[in-house]
Amino acid sequence: MKKYQHLLFDLDDTLLDFGAAEDLALHRLFEEQKIPLTEEVEEKYRQINSSLWTQFEHGEITRDEVITTRFAKLFAAYDQGVDGVLFDTKYRNYLAESKVFVKGAWEIVNELARQFDLYLVTNGVSVTQYKRLQVTGLAPFFKNVFVSEDTGYQKPMKGYFDYVFERIPNFRIEEALIIGDSFSADIVGGIQAGIDTCWFNQHGKAPVENYKPTYEIAELQQLAKILL
Ligand SMILES: [Mg+2]
Repeated sequence: MKKYQHLLFDLDDTLLDFGAAEDLALHRLFEEQKIPLTEEVEEKYRQINSSLWTQFEHGEITRDEVITTRFAKLFAAYDQGVDGVLFDTKYRNYLAESKVFVKGAWEIVNELARQFDLYLVTNGVSVTQYKRLQVTGLAPFFKNVFVSEDTGYQKPMKGYFDYVFERIPNFRIEEALIIGDSFSADIVGGIQAGIDTCWFNQHGKAPVENYKPTYEIAELQQLAKILL
């Protein structure tokens, strides 16, 4: 008898390699604009972007503020004015076209989808996330996709998880497991929402104090051992 029925997968850096996608998209964007993309600029972009998404996770700014200001902020740091909105639209188009999987992601999802109900739980921009699911061919494995933007909440908010639970047929809290790489969003969110958690800790990061995931894995293939 299987313990779990509903598997909730994070997308970025759990199934799709976001760093690689971001890298590719940034290079294409800067190439197109004929602006040299140095390591320093790239690092600066990552800092700005990640600090904006953290503010978003804390409910301090909106998703629109994140995506419309990140490039304007980046170039302002170099005393250049650019159309941040236009830059971002182009960037997200490139991002959505990327097909770089985390190692073993396709195989494990393909295997698990035969026996479990798979759902995607992802923070991010809806149009980008849906397009990525289409181009990577992952979409058919999932019964439903919950992008934060469509829910009015985001991980780790309890409201986000409530929204998801209400939309899973025959949902039973003890039969749900969330699998994700972000301790603050996926694991803390899952624990606070009362479900079991599997931390995909590929890079050996330290956990957040006072929280303990039900499982911790370094490779996706280890899920087979836990679940099958
Ligand atoms: Mg993630």
